[in-house]
Amino acid sequence: MKIAVSGCLLGEKVRFDAGHKRDAFVMDALSKYAEYISFCPENMAFGNPRPSLRLVSNKDNTIKVESNKTGEDLSEKLRAASKADLESIALHSLCGIILKSKSPSCGMMSAKLYQDNGFVESKSDGVFAAMCREKFPLLPMEEEGRLCDAWLRENFVMQLFAYERFEKFKVNATMKELVAFHSVHKFLLQSKDENLYRQLGKIVGNHEDKSFAEILSEYEFLFKTAIAKKSSKGKTRNVLEHMSGFVKSHLNAKEKEMLHEQIDDYAAQIIPLILPLSTLKLYAQKYEIAYLLEQTFLSPYPKELALRSDVKCVK
Ligand code: SF4
Repeated sequence: MKIAVSGCLLGEKVRFDAGHKRDAFVMDALSKYAEYISFCPENMAFGNPRPSLRLVSNKDNTIKVESNKTGEDLSEKLRAASKADLESIALHSLCGIILKSKSPSCGMMSAKLYQDNGFVESKSDGVFAAMCREKFPLLPMEEEGRLCDAWLRENFVMQLFAYERFEKFKVNATMKELVAFHSVHKFLLQSKDENLYRQLGKIVGNHEDKSFAEILSEYEFLFKTAIAKKSSKGKTRNVLEHMSGFVKSHLNAKEKEMLHEQIDDYAAQIIPLILPLSTLKLYAQKYEIAYLLEQTFLSPYPKELALRSDVKCVK
């Protein structure tokens, strides 16, 4: 999959001080499954080394970009370079964007916004990040700073791979395949948003006799909206309970008790999510429960990423 990434996170020496901010997760783990498209609007506009920048709010609520050194208004130059970088990354079939936090260009609601008097007023999107949000409203987008949080990282990676699956699926999709696609994403979607899962089911049900192109387009919008939602302990617990319903009839009392204890321990953040899921998968394999085995929630991304092995991957 192709992911656009702030150049400094890729170890490129494009920062104002000609340094970089190489990110270990991006470079050492996710890179095995992704092709990165680099961008750096500031380097494109001003080269490096260069004076650092800051965002300043104008009286009319617009935002300008100032040089920290000279106070010069550099808004137009940075916006032009950001637009060029945006057009350049848009040439690729992207599955996501990873941005550098706190940057006046790349930060996602983490760039400091100053008042004219030099005090920090609030946090804002950087210039490039704001353009990305507008151009790619459904694309998975995250900052490297937030990806240090195990729960946000797991959510983002699940979103990336689900997005990629849909992009591949829609190329030659048929109605029958859409029904199957929806079916195998049941538990993943329920772990995100039960209501959206039900709405997606209605779209697939097609009671209004719409054309397949209309159905697919509606499904795409809602599916991408649903996978952008964050899971929670409660929603994931419900999914685990629901899945356990499929194996229950095969288990003896002791096995049932142990499975439920694992689900309780997961919800209490004593053990990681991978434990009850592995138990469920083992029973599904042993008793050949195909419906469970084909659920993407069991393997939403390559297991080597091991994101569910951390007790902190739940909130
Ligand atoms: S944060 Fe963005 S603009 Fe700043 S150096 Fe990194 S890629 Fe370039």
